[in-house]
Amino acid sequence: MISGKNYIGDKLSSTSSVTFKTFNPLINLENDVIFFEASDSEIQKATKIASEAFRHYKQVSAEDRARFLVQISDELNLISDDIVNIYCKETGLPEARCLGELGRTMNQLKSFANLLLEGSFQEVSIDTPIPDRKPISKPDLRKMLTPIGPVVVFGASNFPLAYSTAGGDTASALAAGCPVILKSHPMHAGTGELVSAAIIRAAKKTNMPNGVFSNLNSKGIEVGVKLVNSPDIKAVGFTGSLKGGRAIYDLASKRNHPIPVFAEMGSVNPVLIFPKKLEKGYDELAKKFAKSITIGSGQFCTNPGVIISFESETFDLFINKLVEEIEQISPSCMLHPNIYSAYNSGIQKINKNKNVTKLTNDKIKPEINLPTHVISSVSAKKFVEDKSLQNEIFGPCSLIIKCKNTDELHEVIESFEGQLTGTILAESNDIHLTQKIIDALELKVGRIIFNGVPTGVEVCPSMTHGGPYPASTDSRFTAVGTNSIKRWLRPVSFQDFPQNLLPDELKDNNPLNIMRSIDGIVK
Ligand code: NAP
Repeated sequence: MISGKNYIGDKLSSTSSVTFKTFNPLINLENDVIFFEASDSEIQKATKIASEAFRHYKQVSAEDRARFLVQISDELNLISDDIVNIYCKETGLPEARCLGELGRTMNQLKSFANLLLEGSFQEVSIDTPIPDRKPISKPDLRKMLTPIGPVVVFGASNFPLAYSTAGGDTASALAAGCPVILKSHPMHAGTGELVSAAIIRAAKKTNMPNGVFSNLNSKGIEVGVKLVNSPDIKAVGFTGSLKGGRAIYDLASKRNHPIPVFAEMGSVNPVLIFPKKLEKGYDELAKKFAKSITIGSGQFCTNPGVIISFESETFDLFINKLVEEIEQISPSCMLHPNIYSAYNSGIQKINKNKNVTKLTNDKIKPEINLPTHVISSVSAKKFVEDKSLQNEIFGPCSLIIKCKNTDELHEVIESFEGQLTGTILAESNDIHLTQKIIDALELKVGRIIFNGVPTGVEVCPSMTHGGPYPASTDSRFTAVGTNSIKRWLRPVSFQDFPQNLLPDELKDNNPLNIMRSIDGIVK
């Protein structure tokens, strides 16, 4: 049963008179449950108990934190039917997508549990002293990463499970030893409550301190603003629009004590196609990209929003095939009328641009929340001149850029703002694919894909899901994969400490048996 209330630690609470409902985009009607926005006193209580919980939670052993994460995964598994039921009603996404995302969420939790048991994430480094070093002695220095403190996570609209309540940001922060306050996404507050209840149950079963997790509902931006401004909060995780991410980043930097905001925002994910690849099989390539552009109604941050190649007969054949394929794919429901209308207004803007040619036609009359798939084209020169063409249009569309030569291709790459991904489609002996092009692309992106599609983000240690601004607010970190834990850790050095007062991680006898660097040698 969904109560519509906030979880302030393990207590359900609803003291505000501000309420809202979620929306079923498939039937274009509100769902029944009434949700209560978190009140000021609930926000204060959640941040206070998170701060108190932090003192205990940071001392909880890595092994026990791992048990907590695995228990969350088990609790989610037990309620998978209930999750599917509400998830589909709140998103319009199909059951298979929900189950896929749930599986991914559970695997993420388990992969952080494994990381905790393995121990190297704390990057322990020990430099032994040299008392008789001249002219001054060298002290005993020992360093490890420690949790930063309570973290606010903003749930993402487009991943109600994998990047929301118990998603990657929450799992990585809890793994790091940081309590989490979840600013639930209003579009899927019911899914958020069910998942929150699973986290709370897991926390109780594994004896975690109350306040290690809270879930706050919101109708508008006020709850998020107050959370980011709370002195008890020490970092923020966000997935969403550039506008929202930037606003939160600015808020956090204006605090008396600024805190880090790890925001993953918009991206058009440029795809570079080289001539030999087109000659080898433009047909198959077009089919593959039609699927990648339309999967999940294009509501992925890695959606291929821009496709670039040289003017040629084969590129024209590819474009024609892409248009034909994409027109044949039935539109699928978007997450919410707001996202649907943001998509339509983005498409209208691009249609009005006199330098852009629309290639798909609107044979199908658009139905509510079912978007029209759109392919348009523009010359390289005009693309470089008009920065507005780089704005992410969140949905099933892509802009084709035609270059006259490699100089123009370079100019296009140089003109890009930071991106999550860049894709190269080529034969390895293609003379147009030079190291200079690869180097130029590498400067702009967090991940370069060779002969693949950018959609589909593998969760593993080598994944980088981030990139230079505005793809993210800090290109040194990833939002996906076990390395995302680094966002919530800070280094602390202990100088000349007696053995008995050192954390176990730094003691000479290595009681936790973790991998450490000792005088520069990893043991
Ligand atoms: P959003 O508008 O950026 O909102 C995300 C979260 O941030 C929401 O919980 C929202 O709160 C909060 N928020 C937004 N602006 C804020 C501000 N100024 N101060 C404090 N909190 C703020 O993203 P969305 O709702 O997920 O979707 C809207 C658009 O974002 C989409 O159409 C798409 O363009 C983009 N988007 C991009 C990605 C991506 O991965 N690149 C993913 C999802 C969405 P409230 O909802 O409570 O107002």
